[in-house]
Order: sequence, then structure tokens, then C-alpha cells
Amino acid sequence: MLEEYNWAGNLRYCAAEVAQPSTLDELSALVSAAPSVRAVGTRHSFNDIADSAGVLVSLEKLEGEPVLDRQARTVTVTAGTRYGDLAAFLVRHGYALHNLASLPHISVAGAVATGTHGSGNRNGNLASAVAALELLTADGQVVRVDRSSPEFNGMVVSLGALGIFTRITLDVEPAYEVRQDVFTDLPWESVEENFDAITSAAYSVSIFSSLAGPSATQVWLKGRTDRELPYAGAADFFGGTAAAEPMHPLPGMSAVNCSQQMGVAGSWSDRLAHFRLAFTPSNGDELQSEYLVERGAALEALSILRGMSVEITPLLQVCEIRTMARDDLWLSSSYGQDTVGFHFTWKPQQADVEALLARMEAALAPLKPRPHWGKLFTLERDELQGLYPRFGDFQELARRMDPDRKFVNAFLGRKVLG
Ligand SMILES: Cc1cc2nc3c(=O)[nH]c(=O)nc-3n(C[C@H](O)[C@H](O)[C@H](O)COP(=O)(O)OP(=O)(O)OC[C@H]3O[C@@H](n4cnc5c(N)ncnc54)[C@H](O)[C@@H]3O)c2cc1C
Repeated sequence: MLEEYNWAGNLRYCAAEVAQPSTLDELSALVSAAPSVRAVGTRHSFNDIADSAGVLVSLEKLEGEPVLDRQARTVTVTAGTRYGDLAAFLVRHGYALHNLASLPHISVAGAVATGTHGSGNRNGNLASAVAALELLTADGQVVRVDRSSPEFNGMVVSLGALGIFTRITLDVEPAYEVRQDVFTDLPWESVEENFDAITSAAYSVSIFSSLAGPSATQVWLKGRTDRELPYAGAADFFGGTAAAEPMHPLPGMSAVNCSQQMGVAGSWSDRLAHFRLAFTPSNGDELQSEYLVERGAALEALSILRGMSVEITPLLQVCEIRTMARDDLWLSSSYGQDTVGFHFTWKPQQADVEALLARMEAALAPLKPRPHWGKLFTLERDELQGLYPRFGDFQELARRMDPDRKFVNAFLGRKVLG
């Protein structure tokens, strides 16, 4: 039985019924019969994006093994598969994904639907690896689309609005090794002067801070060992100091939950995420938000946010800065532009956080901040519309594919479809 609350415990799903079909026929019959239905993944979103006033469907029990196509360099999985489980399968067969989010606990479908990302100047978000999709639509039929399909780019980051992904095909590549090095206390002047050099120093880079104080507290460098890593083994990185022991990004927390550090090389699957599958990721007692802006506006955004640190710091557990490569997925926060994301892990004080988010969104408005679809934000449809050039095309696609609004929930009504 699906738990009633999301992972963070800040949302109680209002769905009248929760279903866990084990076959496609069961799922299809359920979707055909239900006037209102949504899929839910592993419940890691912080807002009501996954909720439904009718039936909530979890694909956790849906039958189907991963299928690796070595020639096409793809893997096809049932959509509810967790990244951590997929990674273990790929490692056994000598393959890898191009990136992971900070946690391997989330489902492929849930991550793809919200444009979830990891980091890396040249790494697209996790949805950019989707080569094909099987989507159960409002009439109970399965539609298969791939990159050659005309509206494919509208169907990937689709917020659950077009139907239920049943199987997802992702690009894979031969397995590679990563080493993770952490440096502490990078002075802000150095971060500002060397922003591009820092974010391009490794395959995937995360800069953690409280936004206040003289320096960013930690920089995590995930470097592929098949690339040059000039900082490897160095005591200093742009004024930061090599960490003497494994670190947790949140102050005062044990690094036992975190992926392998201290420059020890090993599988991509154990290092690209910050947190280990067998442990609680992050803090567990928290809320999250994230805003992504065009990469060229990184320093301006940083300056605006640091200027608000007196307001932000009292509610903040940690801020993380990451970069993502552009893609063509209509509702992706990296649509059409290389981006930088400012992520906030908040204390669990939702009313105070939301009041602050409205002020942060107003301050960042000139930079056109695109919020992470699965985290807390206060921007509404009229404002979001101006941030995504293909927003109107997506609305039209959703209305055509789901004329009876079977998949429209309160979130989609407020934020996207009206
Ligand atoms: C501790 C923590 C760390 C995080 N780190 C990151 C990070 O590093 N990077 C990042 O970008 N995000 C991060 N997130 C956010 C998270 O990745 C997203 O909220 C993601 O959507 C969660 O996936 P899920 O499987 O829990 O999906 P859910 O939250 O359950 O659902 C999300 C959306 O996906 C839809 N969906 C789910 N299954 C299907 C399906 N089969 N078909 C169609 N639609 C479906 C739902 O309807 C809903 O709209 C983090 C969240 C937490 C709690």
C-alpha cells in the first residue's frame, strides 16, 4: 500500500484510491475506467504535482525486466524503476548512464516527468537521455514515441499531464569510473572570478554554501578518470582546501549517507549521486526549492541571492549550485539554454519558506528563473508561461491528448493548463 504522505511529509495525498497494478492490462483497464487518475513515482516531490483527486497509480509492482540493447546503446525499463536499481543492473552488464541526480532513490518516470537533473556543464538533465517512451493515454491505449516522433520533445518532461509512462528507453554508454574530491571554504571572490573554470573543472560539479559568510563551504568534484583531472591530489582548488575526511553537504551531518569521496576511483554508479541508496538522502527533515537561469546570468543570480542572505540563511539548511547543458524538451528548465541551478534545502517551515520564495522569485524575475517542477515555488501559470517558449504548444498537446482532463490535477490546473 502506498504511503499517504510524500517523502518529506509536507503533503498528504488527497487521492480517494491508490492502485498498484502488476500488469499492463490491469493498468489499462484502470485508466480507461477512471474519470481522474495520476501516476505517482517514489513520492520525492515537495509539492502536489503527483496528487490526484481520483485514483493514484503506483507502478512499483508493474512486471517487466530491464532490456539492454547493446547495438542501439539503450536500456528499456518499466517506468517505476528506481535509478539505484537500474544503475546496479547496468553495472552488472558493463554500462552506465550519463548522469544521476543527488539521490538514486527516485523513479525514472518521476525524474523524467519533472526534468530532474544532476550536474555538469556538458551534461543534459536526466530526461535528455530518454530515447523512447511508451505512454498509456487517456483511452487506455499504449502509444510508443521516440526521438523521430513529431511531438516527442513535448512528451518527455510532461508532468504526468499526457498519460502514464509505462516503459522508458534511455541512452547508455560503456561503464566509466569516477573519483570524487571535495574542497572546503572557497572564497566567494574566487567563485565569482573563476565560475566557469570551477564548474568545468570536472565532469560534474556542485558548490555548496549558506550564501552568507566569506566563502562557499564545499565544492564537490566528480571527475571521470578517463579525462584529465588537474586538481586530483592537489591541496588547493581555487583557494579551497582539500577535505581531510568525507563530508556531508549539510552542516553537522555524518558522511555515512554520502557517496564515496577522498579521490577513491570507482564505479560511476557509486559516485555520481551524492547519497547512497541504502540510506536516507539529504537530511530527511526538510523542504526543497530550485531555480534555474541561463548560465550567463550565473553571477548576477548569485549576487541577488547573496544579497538576500539575511532573509534566506535563517530558513536555509544548504544551497547547492549546479550547471546543466541545454536541451530541446519543451518544459525542461534547460530548454534552449545552458543553465545554472540554485537549489535550496530548507528547514521544514513551509509557510515562512513560501513567503520567502515569493520575494526571491520577484528579485530573480529579470533573469527569468525557471523553477524545478517537483519542488516548492509560488510562480503561477501566467508567470510560468513567459518562461517557456513552447508552453502554449504543450498546453495544446495536453488538451488534444487528454480532452476530458483525466490527468489534470489541482497542480496542473494552477500552474500549467488552467
Ligand atoms: C532528498 C531529495 C533530493 C533531490 N535531489 C534532486 C536532484 O539532485 N536533482 C533534481 O533535479 N531533483 C532532485 N530532487 C527532486 C526529485 O528528483 C523530483 O521531485 C522527482 O520528480 C522525484 O521523482 P519521484 O519518482 O519521487 O516522482 P514523484 O514525486 O512521485 O512524481 C513526480 C511527477 O512524476 C509524475 N510521474 C510519476 N510516475 C509517472 C509515470 N509512470 N508516468 C507519468 N508521470 C509520472 C507524477 O505524476 C508527478 O507529476 C530531490 C528530491 C529529494 C527528496
